[in-house]
Amino acid sequence: MAGSALSAIAARTTLAAIALALLASPGLYALVRGAGHRTSAAEGMLLVAVILGLALLIWGELRLVPSRALNHFIAAAHDQATRFETALDNLTQGVCFFDGAQRLLMANRRYAEIYDLPADLVVPGTTLGAIITYRHQHGTSPGMAPGAYLAWRRRLSLTNQPSDTEVTTAAGRIITIHHRPTLDGGWVSTHEDVTERRRAQARIAHLACHDMLTGLPNGAQLRQHLNEVTTNAVAGRMSALLILDLDRFKSVNDSLGHLVGDALLRAVADRLRAAVREQDLVARLGGDEFAILQTDIDDEAKATALARRIIDIIAAPFDLAGQQLSIGTSIGIVLCPRHGTRPEEVLSNAGMALYDVKTQDRGRFQLFCPAMEERLHLRRSIEADLATALVARQFVLFFQPVVSAATGNVITFEALVRWQHPEHGLIPPDMFIPVAEATGVIVPLGEWILYAACAEAARWPSPIRVAVNLSAVQVANGQLVEVVSGALRATGLAPHRLELEITETMVLADTEAVHLTLAALRELGVHISLDDFGTGYSSLSYLRKLPFDRIKIDRSFIRDLGEERESTAIVGAIVGLARTLGLTVTAEGVETEDQSRILTELGCTDMQGYHFGRPEPNPQPARPRQIFVSAA
Ligand code: C2E
Ligand code: MG
Ligand code: MG
Repeated sequence: MAGSALSAIAARTTLAAIALALLASPGLYALVRGAGHRTSAAEGMLLVAVILGLALLIWGELRLVPSRALNHFIAAAHDQATRFETALDNLTQGVCFFDGAQRLLMANRRYAEIYDLPADLVVPGTTLGAIITYRHQHGTSPGMAPGAYLAWRRRLSLTNQPSDTEVTTAAGRIITIHHRPTLDGGWVSTHEDVTERRRAQARIAHLACHDMLTGLPNGAQLRQHLNEVTTNAVAGRMSALLILDLDRFKSVNDSLGHLVGDALLRAVADRLRAAVREQDLVARLGGDEFAILQTDIDDEAKATALARRIIDIIAAPFDLAGQQLSIGTSIGIVLCPRHGTRPEEVLSNAGMALYDVKTQDRGRFQLFCPAMEERLHLRRSIEADLATALVARQFVLFFQPVVSAATGNVITFEALVRWQHPEHGLIPPDMFIPVAEATGVIVPLGEWILYAACAEAARWPSPIRVAVNLSAVQVANGQLVEVVSGALRATGLAPHRLELEITETMVLADTEAVHLTLAALRELGVHISLDDFGTGYSSLSYLRKLPFDRIKIDRSFIRDLGEERESTAIVGAIVGLARTLGLTVTAEGVETEDQSRILTELGCTDMQGYHFGRPEPNPQPARPRQIFVSAA
């Protein structure tokens, strides 16, 4: 009686000891042999054999001890077995033992939990087949048929090799299984549910290469794909990288708030995703910048067609919570491998192409070309050298005549600034005025222009006037009236011989402040012209409210005169309007005899353009100009 109880306890103790030894063996060996060392099959089996030997030895010894001592020992062994069992049941891993006939010897509580097994399927003697069949029916076995699963386990026992596998159950749980063979042809295995850990790892990996706001791949992932595209280039095939920058996004974000801005970016991401093929990659690079990697195309027309489509798609109004928003996009395109064979080169060239579009005309696309590099170099020089150019006396004024349609005489010379750059030669104003405005250099530069223009005009015969262009920054600066009166005083030019040209955008910027400044300038006796009329918002209300003397019709309307009926009608209407308001009109950009004739017929009084004279450094006020004089 005591003997059989003893043997049962010894058997349980031994099994539990084996289990713990197996679980602990990698740790023990790691301690003894150094971290990172994995238990080999031979080492594992040796350990199991040692423990079994010890257990048998103990059991053999126990049969010889007297019964009181035996009872005491049985109680101690029972306690020990209970402790082992408690330890097993509290492991975070599931543990089970099977014998050589694939019958369960023992399983802990966690094993039953992981596979959702009922109590009667974890009693010793249960066959592996019964457990697998149950698991298959309840979605806790890997997505393979029970027969295949059993055959796999059998193969493992036959090879007598340890194995580590990770399986995903039909219900989507991820389980890692460590299988170790035992001496009787069975095995002990540990099972761990790593689903949450794997999900957290996947989330971290996703965050590392995706943009949180839109869920699109981020710049890091784009670089990875670019790397693949550039290293696996196939002869005759190409890829295109399109870099997009949204136009007017900043004003939506600033005026309607970040929540609307965020919603807009998400809506843009959705449209872009829907616009490309599955194999293409849409990424958000940050802010309002996106990228599309169009892979495996046969010619550049595919890339430009996509760019055209994207521009239309983004230009269509967005409906966000009942609000209609309109934005646009500019796109720079680079072809691989034609324009670059390394990811950084491709990205940098695409950025250059985008920059080129944005500095010219937004809402368009531009294919990279090597000349852009030169242009960028020029722009960088402009930014770097502008601050010292004024002190170095590198600015010069050119003058272009404005003639009277009635007499052919010059009535005004418009002063147009140029920068005589020591490396790049004569740089036109469109290239440096925006930089001067952004850096504030325009204030001292504008002051110099005013003084120089007035000084030049003071030498011309009266009543020839000089026209000086003003920048919005100068008007907003608050010093303008003082500067103008100072220039007039210093040069002795009569105020009525100075005309100041301002643009529509300036008028819209701050009506009240602009109104006061213009009124004060008018008080001085200078004339004020509205330049480039028709290119801005062309709101007629400020024509009535603000004290203008002259309207200059933008050359884009003059260019199409005689060819497009609309342009002729618009110019006619502006001339009529100006006459009603008591203003004079100058037509800008008159290049041909025909344009001059039509303008005269439409009643335009003054004209400016290459047909009458180009801007030049030494104006000749006395030289008569050839103009068409209407027969009427
Ligand atoms: P804007 O005031 O409209 O000046 C007229 C521009 O049209 C000048 O270009 C002139 O050369 C050009 N132009 C004149 N006639 C013709 C023509 O028949 N055909 C064509 N295609 N173009 C013609 P420019 O000198 O390059 O000046 C460009 C712009 O730069 C000016 O436009 C003005 O907005 C700005 N700007 C020029 N000088 C100054 C300045 O001193 N101060 C400020 N703030 N801006 C200036
Ligand atoms: Mg002008
Ligand atoms: Mg103009």
